[in-house]
Amino acid sequence: MKYIASVSFGKDSLAQIILAYENKEPLDLIIYSEVMFDNKNNISGEVPEHRDFIYNIAIPKIEKEFGYKVVVVRSELDFLSEFHRVITRGKHKGMIRAFPIGWKCCINRDCKMPPIRKFYKSIKDDYKQYVGIAIDEPKRLETMHKDKRKISLLEKYGYTEQMAKELCEKYGLLSPIYSFTKRNGCWFCPNQRSCELNWLYKNHNELLMKLVELQKTPNKASEKWNRQFTITQIYEQLVLRNNQMSIFD
Ligand code: SF4
Repeated sequence: MKYIASVSFGKDSLAQIILAYENKEPLDLIIYSEVMFDNKNNISGEVPEHRDFIYNIAIPKIEKEFGYKVVVVRSELDFLSEFHRVITRGKHKGMIRAFPIGWKCCINRDCKMPPIRKFYKSIKDDYKQYVGIAIDEPKRLETMHKDKRKISLLEKYGYTEQMAKELCEKYGLLSPIYSFTKRNGCWFCPNQRSCELNWLYKNHNELLMKLVELQKTPNKASEKWNRQFTITQIYEQLVLRNNQMSIFD
């Protein structure tokens, strides 16, 4: 039996690695699937501070101090290939997919999960999979319990999300993204909160501008970036906000 943990390097998935280490739980391997914005130019989908944390702090510490091996996998597909993918059926046939729709994001389905599935398929032994779901996420736990291969060490040791965060802090394994947001997601995510967008605007304007440039691409199935606005409108709101003017002025 192999024991494998899937991580995003967010607080919950890292807390379960720490719990495995502290409690001498079996753990053979850790797998991380990195979503890319642009494979050709090596531009990750991770917020830059989080990516630095993953490669320069978390992976070295987990491998050298804890003694676990981390496997990084990536899909050949990236945000740009999904954006430019031509629709073959339905009323938008012949148009490009454009920005992923927030409530049914294709990036997770097409870019993040396939390399993980391929990895698990390649395992010859039987395996158990650790997933970082806290005790204050009952719906996610309920779904997880339907899969007999999955185990949550946060559930086993009675950890809430807040406790997971504190445990990561104690070990110097809390990603810097938690200084400005509560969630860990792609920098191009249409489900971002305004605090995340404002962080991008102030600290990684060049990334936001890549999305604004994409808005000019012709033949898109939808002009919108999220449920309400185009990315150009969002960008204009950010400019206003940062010039201390209200959008309602
Ligand atoms: S963080 Fe957002 S863009 Fe990234 S996979 Fe999840 S829903 Fe999609």
